[in-house]
Amino acid sequence: MIEIDGSLGEGGGQVIRSSLTLAVMTGQPVHITHIRARRAKPGLQPQHLMAVRAAAQISSAEVEGATIGSAELTFRPNGVYPGNYRFDIGTAGATALVVQTVFLPLALRNPISESSEVMVIGGTHVPHSPAFHYLALNWLPVLRDLGCDVDLDMLLAGFYPQGQGQVRATFRPVARLAPLDLPERGALRAIRGISAVANLDMSIAVRQQQTALQRLKGRTSRLDIELLDMPARTKGTMLLLLAEFRHSTVCYFSLGALGKRAEQVADEACLWLEKFLAGTGAVDEYLADQLLLPLAFADGDSRFRTTLVTDHVRTNAAVIEAFGAADIDLEKDGRHGEGSVRVRPRT
Ligand code: ATP
Repeated sequence: MIEIDGSLGEGGGQVIRSSLTLAVMTGQPVHITHIRARRAKPGLQPQHLMAVRAAAQISSAEVEGATIGSAELTFRPNGVYPGNYRFDIGTAGATALVVQTVFLPLALRNPISESSEVMVIGGTHVPHSPAFHYLALNWLPVLRDLGCDVDLDMLLAGFYPQGQGQVRATFRPVARLAPLDLPERGALRAIRGISAVANLDMSIAVRQQQTALQRLKGRTSRLDIELLDMPARTKGTMLLLLAEFRHSTVCYFSLGALGKRAEQVADEACLWLEKFLAGTGAVDEYLADQLLLPLAFADGDSRFRTTLVTDHVRTNAAVIEAFGAADIDLEKDGRHGEGSVRVRPRT
């Protein structure tokens, strides 16, 4: 039984989700204590509980402690079972984080080699998590380059507080995942973006778009931000920017909120992108922590340079090492917190 202290490092929900994925991938049972001990509302919240239930369903796991507010969980997986699943978070909890929890077992280590279709209901564009478009345009393309055969579709967008967005992930499992070698990003080739609204006037999306275009003018001759009207049951806005370099792509986005001006939404996303452009990273700080798990199961050693070695990266690395899946070296060497990450799978 692997023992994980949930207050480890950053001490948030990621410790639980990564532990669940690692338990299913390695077939090892796990006992997690002090769940989200460092958060204002500690213990399992709906979004984390859905991740537990989702991981349990695809692995036919025996689970103790899967209740709201629970600070302790025991999870014993019993294999991987491809199939059609529907996971309804019931709140605006992030659909992306549930997709990521079941991603690797269904995309890779799938003994029967059958396809799976997973529908997740909840938030698609909520703070402190990857927006659907971040997942589809930044995270998934890297995993596809490494060999994954997965599609992601958003049927409905879902914003805070009601959520009710719908994301469908289709998995055609592959036998292996290639390692990643991304020591530098190369020259900037283009900045693309999406300015989106759901159930709000398109003029808001236009204001976000124009503010961002004005601010980023001169960075590259290939600058384009498209307008998008997203189908949804809730209201919301998003401005997402993708910077495409010779060797990599990075993504930053910001979300609208009641009383937040469209210009401020655009300025926030631009500021994050400008910070990235001023550094030497090849991948953004969020992709950095989200790549560790897949790379821990790749067919060889990986390395990449990130714009910021965050506590999330450190914490995720510690959880992966606790399961004996990979050795991870983090070297912070840049003036702005940039660093290199090496992942050496043990199997
Ligand atoms: P908690 O509620 O305990 O904070 P959580 O499960 O909501 O837990 P974290 O443990 O903080 O959240 O994990 C959040 C995940 O979302 C991380 O993988 C992080 O990289 C990702 N994430 C957060 N913000 C962004 C963003 N702006 N773009 C892309 N990914 C993001």
